[in-house]
Amino acid sequence: MRLLIVGAPGAGKGTQAGSIAEHYGIPAISTGDIFRANIKNGTELGRKVKAIMDAGDLVPDEVTDEIVVDRLGQADAATGFLLDGYPRNLHQVDALDAYLKGSGLALDAVVSLDVDPELLTARLLKRAQIEGRTDDNEETIRNRMKVYAEQTEPLLSHYEKAGLLVSVDGVGEIDEVRERIFAALDARG
Ligand code: AMP
Repeated sequence: MRLLIVGAPGAGKGTQAGSIAEHYGIPAISTGDIFRANIKNGTELGRKVKAIMDAGDLVPDEVTDEIVVDRLGQADAATGFLLDGYPRNLHQVDALDAYLKGSGLALDAVVSLDVDPELLTARLLKRAQIEGRTDDNEETIRNRMKVYAEQTEPLLSHYEKAGLLVSVDGVGEIDEVRERIFAALDARG
């Protein structure tokens, strides 16, 4: 299975990505997690992206695309993967499409987790208290929502036209949302 999961910040992508990946025996690849690990380890990449992430902006495409292509080329992603948080704009969509095409591969589905943006801001503020993420202050959260609406949301109609979009109601208990995702993916066959 080659899958994407798309959703606004705080929609629960990371949580659901873990369950989906486990279910299909594929790696969940989160660009946000890769960047955070680099910041934590004080790498050159981490130093490059920290201020961008703290502001809630997108890391430049050439940096992000290269990381993803490198990660998808690793052995554990050979039979499938779930990308969480990538692509995030139409340029990245093109970069991913080109990579897959060049490798003779195609996506099976794009899961969209749909949640009302107002609910999400509240979720993110709560997560900020629990996890202490430096990109979870109110100003950054507002910017991340804006970046999502302006740059990432257009991906949904792109993937809908491609016949890949699986929209799932993301409001509810974690288990409930997970079952909806599996039901929707199973229904595609
Ligand atoms: P996430 O954990 O997916 O919410 O990502 C956290 C932050 O990492 C984002 O706000 C961006 O600054 C950066 N980031 C993650 N994925 C991407 C991407 N595909 N393109 C650009 N920046 C990204």
